[in-house]
Formats: sequence, C-alpha cells, structure tokens
Amino acid sequence: MLIGEKSIPRPLRWAMIGGGRLSQVGYKHRCGALRDNTAYQMVASAFDIDAERGRDFGVNLGLDADRCYATYQQLLAEEAKREDGVEVVSIATPNGTHFEITKAALNAGIHVICEKPLFFTTAEALEIKALAAKKGLIVGVTYGFSGHPLLMQMRAMIANGEIGDVRMVELQYTHGFSANDSADKFSEAQKWRVDPKIAGPSFVLGDISTHTFYISQLVLPELKVKSLLCDRQSFIPSRAPLEDNAMVLMHYDNGAVGRMWASSINAGSMDSQSIRVIGSRASLEWSDYNPGELKYEVQGQPNQIMHHGMPYLHESALADERLGALHTEGLAESWANIYLKFAIAIHATQQGDQTTLDNLIYPDINAGIEGVRWIENCVRSADNGASWVNYE
Ligand code: NAD
Repeated sequence: MLIGEKSIPRPLRWAMIGGGRLSQVGYKHRCGALRDNTAYQMVASAFDIDAERGRDFGVNLGLDADRCYATYQQLLAEEAKREDGVEVVSIATPNGTHFEITKAALNAGIHVICEKPLFFTTAEALEIKALAAKKGLIVGVTYGFSGHPLLMQMRAMIANGEIGDVRMVELQYTHGFSANDSADKFSEAQKWRVDPKIAGPSFVLGDISTHTFYISQLVLPELKVKSLLCDRQSFIPSRAPLEDNAMVLMHYDNGAVGRMWASSINAGSMDSQSIRVIGSRASLEWSDYNPGELKYEVQGQPNQIMHHGMPYLHESALADERLGALHTEGLAESWANIYLKFAIAIHATQQGDQTTLDNLIYPDINAGIEGVRWIENCVRSADNGASWVNYE
C-alpha cells in the first residue's frame, strides 16, 4: 500500500513543457507527479505556446517567475546553467512537437516523461530509444490509465493460468465527444487533433486506442500481434484522412484473436474504455469507468466481482493501492502510480541500479514505441483497403 512516504531519497527537480492553463491534460500530470510530495518538486515550466499566459499560470502555481520560461528551448538552456537545474521534464504539448522536444531534452541530459502517442513514426521512436540509452536517461510515456491496481491483478491471474489459455482479447475505447464537428471549429485541443500535420497519421487510433493497446500489453505481456486488419472512417468528412472511428481485427502469435473499437463518434457515450480477456475456462473484464472492480467469470460458476484493496488480491495489485477498499480510487491515483514508477526508474538509473529497472513494470520507451507501431500498422492496413497486413 502506498501512503506517500519516500520511495526515493529526495524529490526530483521537475518541469512541465505544455500542459498550461487551457490544456486538457496538464492537471493530470500535476495530480500524478505531486500527489505524494515526495517524488517530484515542480521547479520550472514552459507551460504554454502563449508565453505570458504560461508565465502567469506558473506563478499562480507557486513557481519562481524567473523559472517560468517563454519557450522549451529557453528552459533547457537556462536550467542547464544551474547546479539545481531540472532533472526531468514532462511533455504535454500537441503530438507533432513530442519528437523535437524529447530529443532536445535528452541532449540536454534531462529525463523525459512524454505524452502519447509518443511520435509519428517507429523510426523516430527507435532513434529516441537509442539516444536515451546513449545518454543513460529514461523516457516514460503517460498511458495514464495503466496505473489502476486491478490491471496488475489481471496480469497476475492470466499469468497464473486462472482463465486458461487466452483465446480472445476484446478492446474498446470510445466516446461521443466528436459526434458532430462543432469542437473541430471551436476547441483548440480538437482542431489540432484532426490536422495530420500536428496530430500525425491518425486521430482516434493514436488519441485513445494507444491507451487500451498498452493496457492489453500490460496484462498480456507474452501475447504478440502477428497480423491485423483495420477499417477506419471519417464520419465528419472534413477530418479525412484522419479517422473518427476505427475497427481493428487482430491475430496473435499464439492463435488467439483480438478486436479493438476506437471511436469518438459513439454518440451519447461519455467514455468507455474496456478490456475483456477470454480464456478457455474463464474471462476477466475491466473498464476504466468503474476501475475499482474486476469481473472474473468462470464458465459454469457464479460470476465474481473482485474489489480493489481487498486482501484476496495479488500482492502486485495491493502494492499499488492507496486509499483502501472502503473508498473509491480513480484516475488521479492511477496517474500517481505511474508517475511514482517513473521517479523510481529515474532514481535507479541515476544509481546504476539495474535490478530495480529490470523488475519495474511501467510504460517505458518500449511501450511508447509499441503504441506508434500499432498506429502505423493500423493505418497501413486501412489505407490498403482494410486488408490484412503482417504486423511489422
Ligand atoms: P491542448 O491543446 O489542450 O493543450 C496543449 C498545451 O500545450 C497548451 O497549454 C498549449 O499552450 C501548450 N503548447 C503547445 N505547443 C507548445 C510548445 N511548443 N511549447 C510549450 N507549450 C506548448 O492539448 P491536450 O489535449 O492537453 O493534449 C496534449 C498532449 O497530451 C497530446 O499529445 C495528447 O495526445 C495528450 N493527451 C493525453 C491524455 C492522457 O490521458 N494521457 C489526455 C489528453 C491528452
């Protein structure tokens, strides 16, 4: 159980790039990083494309005005001159900027925590992996739902054979917030999401399905996609070639099959991300809408609902518990869990502690690469007439 005590000897000196006052995701980063007050200390920022608004916001959050920089380039240059300069930055800017900012931060000797989808191409992601390895630095990816403790329970139960042989993986991340085009015109966050120059080669595949795809990799680390077929549509024509709906069929290397539905035009649906893993004797199902419960359904027996924080859970699920079974845990706790693991990974890297790094399960650079690879394969299939393609 986590109760906020130190996991590393002192908080890491941390800055945010992007994630400013009007951003969708910035506060989630701060909820995650600053939750325990023992893993990170926010010391600097380049919060905003609008320098003045970014500075005002940083000061309002309690930062020194002279460490609220106008640009990320200025942040990296000025912090490098200080003995107490930034050690890790979080990048919460639109997709098209992730690669250049990550590269610049690593070259400045700073660890990186970056938003998904990490970059536009696998080649870029592999280049960054090599650079991070050369510099001895961590790149973490904020798959923010992946810190929910019951996902570790799913992983442990599947590994223990409690559902039998895995036959099917059913994945969904859909909502209805782009069912019409009003946000495309008025919301800054939506405008860039449907612009391929800034969003990259996909809309919903990158924006939401990368989360669910990572969750499937977290709970099924042995399962590898062998081939897939993706059909994608732009129900709002102005979004083409980027899709607001996609359906993907997958074949895995063990003979299992999978399906992903990613959509932002699921009218009326607030948010539904779920994973159901169907085995030869039982199924497990989890949804981020009700993340404190895990369904365990054994064929021929009454269904069970496993509850977070209960002593019958696997130790890896209990290790990430914060509030206890009597209370509701949510997205803020999930973000805090992954941010804590980023901090432990960074400290272990600083100490040369390979054992800790080898045993830590968190969304690292490889998870980021796999998200980009997933998008690339889906787009290749969809743009080839929704045909089956070998997963490359
Ligand atoms: P947004 O448009 O709402 O906010 C972007 C922020 O970045 C703004 O504060 C903007 O001023 C700032 N910005 C833009 N360019 C900048 C630059 N060059 N330097 C400094 N600041 C800059 O976008 P958003 O919805 O918050 O998404 C940002 C990123 O986070 C995207 O990659 C998106 O995919 C990702 N995201 C992830 C999650 C998650 O759950 N992990 C949720 C939402 C968004």
